[in-house]
Amino acid sequence: MKSFLTKSSCCACDHVQMRVLVVEDDISLGQVVQRGLAEDGHAVDWERTLAAASEAVAINTYQLVVLDLGLPDGDGLDLCHKLRSAGNPARVLLLTARDSLSDKVRGLDAGADDYLTKPFDHPELSARVRALLRRPDHARSPRLTASEIELDPAAHVVSRAGIQVPLTAREFALLHYLMDRAGEVVPRTDLLEAVWDANYDGLSNVVDVHVANLRRKLDMPDLDTAIETVRGVGYRIIKEAAQQ
Ligand code: CA
Repeated sequence: MKSFLTKSSCCACDHVQMRVLVVEDDISLGQVVQRGLAEDGHAVDWERTLAAASEAVAINTYQLVVLDLGLPDGDGLDLCHKLRSAGNPARVLLLTARDSLSDKVRGLDAGADDYLTKPFDHPELSARVRALLRRPDHARSPRLTASEIELDPAAHVVSRAGIQVPLTAREFALLHYLMDRAGEVVPRTDLLEAVWDANYDGLSNVVDVHVANLRRKLDMPDLDTAIETVRGVGYRIIKEAAQQ
């Protein structure tokens, strides 16, 4: 811990510390990547499966996900798709043993920011990470507004009528998905698939519970509810808030 802090402060002039998730099932490679990025001054979490990584990104806010494509329980690109459809602003750097052009194209199409073909040396990974973290992402993530709510995907900030509303990662993803389709009725099944995953088999009312929490947090004394329930179908963000 001591050496981490020392290293981190000595590197402060070089770059900002970021929260990084490494998703890699190969134990020795995972250790090397985690240790190397920690020595660069980043706060690094490491997960070995798609399921554990999905859980980690739902709970924590990462600036960067270093993602292996071949994972024991699925394709790393599924996580990449999920991050992008949820409006998660984390940069994604793919680590792949596959060297074919089609894999790289598939990766970039899925919203990855860069890729690195194994084997690689740490200085190369380190340089790619620095380049990614310097890249502005505002163009990819325009601010969304509806019902006096403003959602800034890049800054991960939500406000209503100018008052900042703290949300959990799931609530943020849910609101982002609804606001992307403001004025449309969004079926519960779409929300479940985009914000949880297609194989989610937990509570059947998980979407309703999270929408209820979201609605409560967004409630303002002088404004009508922003989220309308369409009985038996799903939810709709109302574009214009009505004054009460
Ligand atoms: Ca692998």
